[in-house]
Amino acid sequence: MEKTDAVVIGAGPVGLFQIFQLGLQGLSCHVIDALPHAGGQCAELYGDKPIYDIPAIKVCTGQELTDHLLEQIVPFAPQWHLGEHAAVLEPQPGGSFLVETCGGTQLHARAVFIAAGVGAFLPRTLKLPGLEAFEGTQLRYRLDDGENLAGQHLVVHGGGEHAVATAIACATAPEHLRPSRTTLHHRRDVFDAPPAALDQLRVLRSAGRIEVAIGVANGIEQAAGHLSALMLTTPESTLLRVPLDRLLVRLGLVPRLGPIADWGMALERKQLLARPGGGPQASYRFAQDHFHEFLYANLGGETLAELHTAVGLALEDLPGEAPLERIAALAYHFQRAGDLPRTVRYALDAGVRHLELQALAPAERLLKSGLAALRLALRVPAALLRREHLEAQPVIAGRPRQRPRQQLRAAR
Ligand SMILES: Cc1cc2nc3c(=O)[nH]c(=O)nc-3n(C[C@H](O)[C@H](O)[C@H](O)COP(=O)(O)OP(=O)(O)OC[C@H]3O[C@@H](n4cnc5c(N)ncnc54)[C@H](O)[C@@H]3O)c2cc1C
Repeated sequence: MEKTDAVVIGAGPVGLFQIFQLGLQGLSCHVIDALPHAGGQCAELYGDKPIYDIPAIKVCTGQELTDHLLEQIVPFAPQWHLGEHAAVLEPQPGGSFLVETCGGTQLHARAVFIAAGVGAFLPRTLKLPGLEAFEGTQLRYRLDDGENLAGQHLVVHGGGEHAVATAIACATAPEHLRPSRTTLHHRRDVFDAPPAALDQLRVLRSAGRIEVAIGVANGIEQAAGHLSALMLTTPESTLLRVPLDRLLVRLGLVPRLGPIADWGMALERKQLLARPGGGPQASYRFAQDHFHEFLYANLGGETLAELHTAVGLALEDLPGEAPLERIAALAYHFQRAGDLPRTVRYALDAGVRHLELQALAPAERLLKSGLAALRLALRVPAALLRREHLEAQPVIAGRPRQRPRQQLRAAR
């Protein structure tokens, strides 16, 4: 496992500039991106499109912006992990993080920056029974630069510009790399690509350098662990067998938040909730996990209550309107601290927001315990609901140390 100051997840414009800022602070960093190149949406979705809203640059294309950002970080020599998506993010003892990619790269970092934009750009897959088993061998979603396909029958699946461009690139590759046969497969004989690409496709089709197979793919043919053909149903409802050595699926990319949604961070409309003017809320979340893991088990009684009070008060001090998850955490910590008024306030608030948002099961549990606390409080006469008295209440979960009648007698 490699150790580093920071890991940046996402090499879009935000991630690239983050690398620059880390470099200015003298911090080393590793960069992970699911795409095989840097630039995020700018490079992948609109590399040739002009952009007019970058400060101090009158106009540049998406790719030019990426190139400028890459040039700017050259002095800081980040370590690249392209074509891999960050799959695991785990807090470690001492506040550091373990990041693991789908390719098995493990990084141990003091800080992690999530610049994931709309999510990892992953290829749209072709779903046919049994096909998945060939991924990485005969089934591919992208070709490596200069990949040798000589002597093979390549089938490119898709009807958009990626599929058309790939079929053209393969059919016109240098002879020693070129497939012996290139077939472009789509469900209908209409392709959605720029006019110049469609013209080139037409020329290559009439010259017999690209064949076109039309029909809906509904199965594969395999024998002895070898993918031998794609089975289609044509628009005329006849079955068509398209033999192949390689299947290249080019259905475009789809951004997937994927594992980020499972890392336990607060998300709202697929966006991470950030603390205004400060670090991401996740840092609290992980600090809290750490707190539980290493302190909680060894502490008891008053020390524990003091710690929960300290965490609760720190949370109260965070700026901005508290999101639901923080409200629920406030109720939890004040409950563990034995602070009944605050517990009731936050548990009810969390519960109300929960009902509004229809979200988060923990808030529901807190609502229930908050309501239990409220019921308990309401059984105590109003005279007892003095601040000094309530502050001395025991933890509400479980059995109260004194019954309300005893409390009443004691107060008199
Ligand atoms: C067609 C189009 C035109 C646009 N035009 C403009 C414009 O003219 N001006 C403008 O200001 N903005 C424009 N935008 C918006 C702009 O592109 C985005 O706001 C910008 O790209 C966001 O940058 P980012 O670095 O936050 O995210 P992204 O560019 O989305 O990059 C995020 C990167 O993170 C990677 N990633 C995500 N999750 C993971 C993971 N778990 N593991 C590994 N990698 C991961 C993704 O693969 C991606 O490469 C346009 C967008 C589109 C689609």
